[in-house]
Amino acid sequence: MIKYVNAIKKLDYIKSLKTYTHIELMKVALREANKALRYNDVPIGAVVSFNGQIISKAHNQVERYNNTLFHAEYLAINKAIKKLGYKNLNTCNLYVTLEPCSMCAGAIVLARLKNLYFGTSDFKAGACGGLINIIENKELNHQIKVYPDILKEESSYIIKKFFKEIRLNGK
Ligand SMILES: [Zn+2]
Repeated sequence: MIKYVNAIKKLDYIKSLKTYTHIELMKVALREANKALRYNDVPIGAVVSFNGQIISKAHNQVERYNNTLFHAEYLAINKAIKKLGYKNLNTCNLYVTLEPCSMCAGAIVLARLKNLYFGTSDFKAGACGGLINIIENKELNHQIKVYPDILKEESSYIIKKFFKEIRLNGK
């Protein structure tokens, strides 16, 4: 309970930060996605927000740290929990350029995020309706509202371009 109060106080502080629209937050996620390219990581970016303010942002860093768990959403959720000092992010929204995988969807459910906004669907590994649906599974004790197709073309373009370049380079 004390921790929760502290988290709310921190949220009051965050309220004084700049407010962004959904589209602007997704653009921040896209800029994060581009950062992943520096280390040849698949360009995926994520932002955790509260009332339009940015609490944390991260990009995919699997290749950079040679750690298969270092997905953008997972890292952004971790940062937000550390920043707020509370395990539940039930007043926060997550923006991510690609539909989250099963690990990240599980993390989103466990962290009890409020809404999920994502750019493009992942029909090969998405766990928010693309391949399977963990995020809206009624059997779980928490469901998140999902809003797909936010800046879909831009989100899809950077990933397609990345894999196209890999094929052309014969990597
Ligand atoms: Zn993931």
